[in-house]
Amino acid sequence: MPGGFAEGVAFPRDTAEVAALVASARRVLPVGAQSSLTGGATPRGDVVISTRSLDQIGEITANSVRAGAGVPLAALQRRLAASGLYYPPVPTYDGAFVGGTIATNAAGAATFKYGSARQWVEALTLVLVDGSIVELRRGASSAAPDAHFVLPRQGREPLRIPAPTYAMPDVPKLSAGYYARAGMDLVDLFVGSEGTLAVITAATLRVIPRPGTCAALLRCASDREAVAVTAALRREAAASWRGEGPLDVAAVEYMDHHALAAVPDEAFARAGLPRPDRTSAMLLVQVEVPREVDAALERLQGVLAACGVDGDPHVALPGDESGAARLFELREAVPASVNALVAAAKAHAHPDIEKTAGDLIVPFERLEEALALYREIFERRGLRYAIWGHVSDGNLHPNVIPRSIDDVERGRGAILEMARGVIAMGGAPLAEHGVGRSALKQRLLRELYGERGIEEMRASKRALDPEWKLSAGVLFPEPL
Ligand SMILES: Cc1cc2nc3c(=O)[nH]c(=O)nc-3n(C[C@H](O)[C@H](O)[C@H](O)COP(=O)(O)OP(=O)(O)OC[C@H]3O[C@@H](n4cnc5c(N)ncnc54)[C@H](O)[C@@H]3O)c2cc1C
Repeated sequence: MPGGFAEGVAFPRDTAEVAALVASARRVLPVGAQSSLTGGATPRGDVVISTRSLDQIGEITANSVRAGAGVPLAALQRRLAASGLYYPPVPTYDGAFVGGTIATNAAGAATFKYGSARQWVEALTLVLVDGSIVELRRGASSAAPDAHFVLPRQGREPLRIPAPTYAMPDVPKLSAGYYARAGMDLVDLFVGSEGTLAVITAATLRVIPRPGTCAALLRCASDREAVAVTAALRREAAASWRGEGPLDVAAVEYMDHHALAAVPDEAFARAGLPRPDRTSAMLLVQVEVPREVDAALERLQGVLAACGVDGDPHVALPGDESGAARLFELREAVPASVNALVAAAKAHAHPDIEKTAGDLIVPFERLEEALALYREIFERRGLRYAIWGHVSDGNLHPNVIPRSIDDVERGRGAILEMARGVIAMGGAPLAEHGVGRSALKQRLLRELYGERGIEEMRASKRALDPEWKLSAGVLFPEPL
């Protein structure tokens, strides 16, 4: 997000330094790797607290790791791999930090199997707005029946915090303001709060034994075929988790024909693949293979044949790291190529052109209908666009490919119309990227929970941050 300006930037090395900074500054904005796609990590006159020096990885046990907020997930994953362990909820951009991914409740491709960051956070070290340090462990404090928390503070009166009560949509991932559920754990109020309630300085995360994986890239003739294949793979995965089959699919990623058209020929050449014809979509399937690779691949072939998929998938077998990397690079070339087209339009057509994209999720049974709706809304407005994303979760990113500033304006209208459509289907317009400072995303948050929901969030914030010192303007505007 352009236009950021800061009063200063600090690089604290431990929680005590963060506490001293927060206590003394007028306004603070904690940041991680600043990979936010919503402007959440863009300052507006705040003191920026960079967490990049909080980069210690502490104790690793068979099922947990202690990590500083500034540890990049890629580095965490490397350290865990050396002990045969794995942290599942990693976003496509794995340079994001532990603190940033907790603050946005980030999610990766494998959410339908593993959930988002929330399910993996066991404990948090927090700095509150007055500089007090709180160690919060899951299970230690939950919302009372009359919807409030009591937060004990060292040497001070416990803090009473109203808990939000709005109904959240029932979808596998959501990054839409504060979590709300009767009897919820206090840890969950901070996960996904986008830096507006406290600064996270360290976390204890759950980890699991590192699974063997293989990847398969395949071509589908239509959206209908792609959704049918994904549905069949989800059923296979569920059966394998019950111990009733060999095909343990963790994630399916989708790229539509417009997204593939944006990718340059060299990206296909690097992946060692021919460019598919102009109407095909592609799916990248991640399969976990504890032992029976052959049985899993045989079953995959069977599912593809039953769904009428033409041609064999391109497979990277377990251990073929470079083969898998080539397939994932092609997937990553999609957002990179579309972002390059947006940047070119900004340079040549209008300086205010910006990325205009949805982060929409629907219950999986409504996905085919939702996808048709996204296309109809873009096409009715005469917009150029591309759609890709985490199809096994029902979470897709419809992106405008703007040619003019007018396209950006019409694109915002399109995303708003899509948001209303997905909310009506029981989904949400804010799945994983959060809300940040984006005026459009803040409007979508109001569409989702109404003014009353936003007031409930403000009440929780007011209890923890009465002077609006932390990340002011993120999630919702400051009160006048
Ligand atoms: C190419 C690309 C792909 C992406 N793919 C995904 C994806 O698959 N899934 C997904 O969920 N997201 C994705 N994202 C978005 C982004 O990576 C995530 O939102 C990520 O969680 C942000 O982490 P970060 O460390 O960069 O945080 P930042 O961008 O620095 O900050 C994000 C927000 O968290 C707050 N914050 C940061 N650190 C702290 C802290 N220690 N304490 C309190 N608040 C804090 C900030 O104030 C800000 O509001 C993608 C982004 C890019 C650029």
